Amino acid sequence: MRRNGQNGQTARGGIWEYAPAPEDRSIVALRSRYGLFINGEFVEPHSGRYFTSLNPASEEPLAEVAYADAEDIDRAVRAARHAYETLWSKLPGKERAKYLFRIARILQERSREFAVLESLDGGKPIRESRDVDIPLAAAHFFYHAGWADKLEYAFAGRTPRPLGVVGQIIPWNFPLLMAAWKIAPALACGNTVVLKPAETTPLTALLLCEVFQQADLPPGVVNILTGDGQTGAWLVQHPDLDKIAFTGSTEVGRQIQKAVAGTRKRLTLELGGKAAHVIFEDAAIDQAVEGIVNGIYFNQGHVCCAGSRLLVQESIAELVVRKLKRRVQRLRIGDPLDKNTDIGAINSLFQLRKIERLVAVGVQEGAELYQPECALPSKGYWYPPTILTKVSMAHTVAREEIFGPVLSVLTFRTPDEAVRIANNTRYGLSAGVWTNKGSRYLEFASRVKAGVVWCNTYNKFDPASPFGGYKESGFGREGGIHGLAAYVEV
Ligand code: ADP
Repeated sequence: MRRNGQNGQTARGGIWEYAPAPEDRSIVALRSRYGLFINGEFVEPHSGRYFTSLNPASEEPLAEVAYADAEDIDRAVRAARHAYETLWSKLPGKERAKYLFRIARILQERSREFAVLESLDGGKPIRESRDVDIPLAAAHFFYHAGWADKLEYAFAGRTPRPLGVVGQIIPWNFPLLMAAWKIAPALACGNTVVLKPAETTPLTALLLCEVFQQADLPPGVVNILTGDGQTGAWLVQHPDLDKIAFTGSTEVGRQIQKAVAGTRKRLTLELGGKAAHVIFEDAAIDQAVEGIVNGIYFNQGHVCCAGSRLLVQESIAELVVRKLKRRVQRLRIGDPLDKNTDIGAINSLFQLRKIERLVAVGVQEGAELYQPECALPSKGYWYPPTILTKVSMAHTVAREEIFGPVLSVLTFRTPDEAVRIANNTRYGLSAGVWTNKGSRYLEFASRVKAGVVWCNTYNKFDPASPFGGYKESGFGREGGIHGLAAYVEV
C-alpha cells in the first residue's frame, strides 16, 4: 500500500484510499447475558447452559446466549399454543395489523442500532445491514401488516384460516431479515411462532424481542429460543406444531423433511443455491460487471441466491474477466462497521475453513485462481474476493455451494448452451441474465429452472415478490401472496 500525502489518504492499485469512516458502535447497549424469550419475557434456560456469540471480524466475545433444550422448546410451544387459542387466532385481522405496523415502525426508529448489531454479530458490512437487511426487515412487517385484515381478498372466494403454532428455523446470513420473513406472514395470518435463530448470529433476533415488548405484542405470540442444530432438531420433533418453516442448508433441510414425514406438520424449505449469472455479448458490460460484483462479493457471498457461477458468452469472456479483475482489485475488505467497506468478515471459522477447502479442491481440479493483493486483518475470519477461471461443469466448484466470495467462471457459445449449463445443477433458487434484448431475457427466464430470475440487475428483493426454489433449493415461497398461502388453510 502506497501512502499519498493529504489527509492520511493512501492509494492502492492507483485509486485513492478513503479515510476510515466507522459507524459508532456505542448505539448498541448489549447485555452481557441473554435468556430465552418465552411468553413475552426473558427466562433462564432449563439446562442453565449459555454459549458465547462472537464478533467474527475480531473474535471478540459479544454476549452470552442461553442454550435451549427440549424442555425449553416444550415450554415455548405451550406458551405459543395458549396464545394462539386464547387470543391471537381470535383477534380480528385489523387488530393483528396494528401490532405488525407498530413492530415495523419501531424497527425503523431503531434501524441504526439494529444495523450496527447485525454487522457486529454477523460480520457483514454496515452498508449492507444499513441499506438492505434492516429496511427490508421493516418493509416485511409493513407489507404483511397490510395483508392481515385483507386475507379474504388474497384468497378470493375461500375462507383462509391460520394453521396454528409454527416452528421456524433460520440461518446466519440474514439474521434479522430471515426472522422478519418468517415471523411477519405467520402473525399476519393469525399463527403464533417459536423461532430459533442460528447459533452464530442470535443477537438481532434477541433485540427484536425487545421490540415485541415495546410494541406490547401479547405474551406467547412470538417465542425466540437460541441454541444449535440439536435445539433445531428438538423443535422440529415437537409433536404440537402445525408447521415447520426452515431456511438453511440442503443437507439439514433433507433431515427435517424426513423428521416431519408422516406427521400433520406442514413444511416449507428454503435451501441452497448455485445460481447462474449469464452475460450475453450484447449486454452493457460495465453494468454487468457491477452486477456480478454485487451478486457474489458484497455480503461475502453469504447469500443462498449468490451469483456464484458466471456464465459469459465466449466472444466477450476475456474482456469481462479483465474488467472484473480490475474491479475486484478495488474492493475494500475490512472492518464491517466502516461505511466504506465492501467485503466484511466470514461469518465463522467453520465457514472460512469450508471456503478454503472448496477453493483448494477447485485449484486441484484445474481451475485457475485469481485473488487481488489485499491486506487482511490479523484477527477474525477473512477471505479475499476470488475468481476461478477455466472452470467446467465437471468441477466441484461449479456444482457445490461455497457460500463465500468465490466466483467460478464458465463460458458458453449459444443461448441454448447458456440455458443448458444454467440448468445443469441440483439447485434452482435464482439466476441472473444480462442482455439488451428483451426477447432474449424473456426466453432465458422462461427456460431456466430458478425461482427468481433477475434481468439486468441482481439481488433485488421486495416483500411483494415471492422468493423460493426448485429442485434441491426447496419448496414453498416467501413473500407476496404465495408466501401468505404457506401460513393459511383455505
Ligand atoms: P448453514 O449451512 O447455513 O449454516 P444449517 O442448515 O447448518 O445452515 O443451519 C441453519 C439453521 O438450522 C441453524 O439455525 C441451525 O442451528 C439449524 N440446524 C442445524 N442442524 C439442524 C437439525 N438437524 N435440525 C434442525 N435445525 C438444524
